[in-house]
Amino acid sequence: MQEKGTISIHTENIFPIIKKFLYSDHEIFLRELVSNAVDATQKLQKLASIGEFSGELGDLTIKISINEKLKTITISDKGIGMTADEIKKYINQIAFSGATEFLNKYKDKGEDTQIIGHFGLGFYSSFMVSKKVEIHTLSYQQGAEAARWSCDGSTEFEITKDVKKERGTDVVLHIAEDSEEFLDKYRIKSILEKYCRFLPVPIEFDGKVINNTHPIWRKSPAELKEEDYKNFYKELYPFSDEPLFWIHLNVDHPFNLTGILYFPKIKSDFEVQKNKIQLYSRQVFITDEVKDVVPEFLMLLHGVIDSPDIPLNVSRSFLQSDSNVKKINAHITKKVADKLSELYNNDPKSYQEKWDHISIFVKYGMLSDDKFYEKAKSFCLLKNIKNEYTVLEQYKDKIKDLQTEKNGTVVALYTNDAEKHHMFIQSAEKKGYDVLLLNTLIDPHFAGFIEHKIEKFSLKRIDSDTIEKLIEKEIKPESLLSKEQENQLKEIFEKAINNTNMKVEMVPLTADEMPVTVTIPEFMRRMKDMSRTGGNMNFMGTLPDVYTVSINTNHALMNKILSLNADEDKIRLAKQSFDLALLSQGMLSGKDLTDFIKRSVEITLN
Ligand code: ADP
Repeated sequence: MQEKGTISIHTENIFPIIKKFLYSDHEIFLRELVSNAVDATQKLQKLASIGEFSGELGDLTIKISINEKLKTITISDKGIGMTADEIKKYINQIAFSGATEFLNKYKDKGEDTQIIGHFGLGFYSSFMVSKKVEIHTLSYQQGAEAARWSCDGSTEFEITKDVKKERGTDVVLHIAEDSEEFLDKYRIKSILEKYCRFLPVPIEFDGKVINNTHPIWRKSPAELKEEDYKNFYKELYPFSDEPLFWIHLNVDHPFNLTGILYFPKIKSDFEVQKNKIQLYSRQVFITDEVKDVVPEFLMLLHGVIDSPDIPLNVSRSFLQSDSNVKKINAHITKKVADKLSELYNNDPKSYQEKWDHISIFVKYGMLSDDKFYEKAKSFCLLKNIKNEYTVLEQYKDKIKDLQTEKNGTVVALYTNDAEKHHMFIQSAEKKGYDVLLLNTLIDPHFAGFIEHKIEKFSLKRIDSDTIEKLIEKEIKPESLLSKEQENQLKEIFEKAINNTNMKVEMVPLTADEMPVTVTIPEFMRRMKDMSRTGGNMNFMGTLPDVYTVSINTNHALMNKILSLNADEDKIRLAKQSFDLALLSQGMLSGKDLTDFIKRSVEITLN
């Protein structure tokens, strides 16, 4: 038997096109061929299990070998094999139609960036690296004859009898000159480790099995111990700290999804996203670019997701609108919310200990997904400077007695740096106010967000105004000075400060508050913070800081200033008290600081 034929296809020769389109991803040929070998092996196992195959299964290990002399790579399996007729059907027609369909879809797209990094081009991807491909195969069927197929990359193929005695298929790639890098065993090993590490059939290369055929995400959670999850994490990310906790995903309906998502320890805001989530399809590694498949806020997690229902051979824009992908997204989000809620309810103490690490996921999730917000408000914690935690949805209630303004708004106070704001915090504590600690990158956005979500609720940073104005009450201290005295003082301070970005205001505070306080209005500062961390208001970053200088009209110092005779002395004392306010906030430096110190020494001598 010898048969020659022409593969029916319009394009003269599709292989140069395949090469051109896949230039950045040539290595996936190996994933495709090994996946085919795995499929063929599993089909045979299936037939054996339902009694359609009664022969010996034997050792089903798939073997990959390189022959440097002949410049070939061979992928051998002990699977179902193919008859000559099946080759004609599956390789000449089906596989080819797959490749053709693929090309038709993408040939107008131009850039390969349009194509999701990886896709199943199947058997014909072997021509990305080969000048000639041969198949030697013997079907499992009784009395089947071995067959050989070969094709040199043109549309011509050849089928002959073969001498193969053992059931299964050997695919032999004659590597093209421009692809000889793949004859290097370290290269092949690293490709196998990347794509085939968790394939369900043993894969042997260079005398060793390279894969773990039973990765734990495919097992039932009931079979697994904490150690198993931790060990698997180590296997995936050998250089990472232990994870905080994890979620085992296991869904059959309406789509198929398994996987484990780990919550890593996050040491700083900048460290995130180092280890990515890996996406698998039936244990075949597809990509670690899980954008669109996993909700964006969960990309900070680590682990694996395995689903045959994620379309892999489509463009990104299609992926975003794919209904399975949307469902998967929603499911993962729900699972994560349920897990966090369970952790909080079961053991609030240990949850609180983990909070610093997970707050960024939770807050980011709340900002980006309303459904998540609805659940998360019962496990999103607010921490105050005394390290006490309150659940977001209870916080307003907790502070409302003391921190409600005359117009009914409940004002939460916060600091991003308790050391720096020590003086402001002291004033707040004297009044029994609670001060939250909000010091991560996401907090300026988060603050604005919860104000919008929670009715009659606002957040103010502790240094954004004087204590009486942070939370405006019906009853407040009266000024002991006359209007005329106040105007006089204002003028003195304006002269002393001599800076148009410093707005002087006369404010009656209690006598034990500082004589002068410098603050930045909450709105201004928050806009600037947000523009720094990637908000839309970049222009804000270029605006000068405008401060409010509040003069405490009830402080004894004011009478002292007014009582001095010489204008020069008045200004000097005003300047001194203004500098003290700056100093208390770490805002005094350079010549101003030197002048202040010199002046202080003089005053001490007086
Ligand atoms: P796909 O795997 O997506 O169906 P391929 O182009 O990779 O497409 O392969 C086409 C068909 O060729 C397969 O569906 C299978 O029937 C057959 N085939 C490929 N490789 C093997 C193999 N190693 N053993 C048996 N059959 C194979």
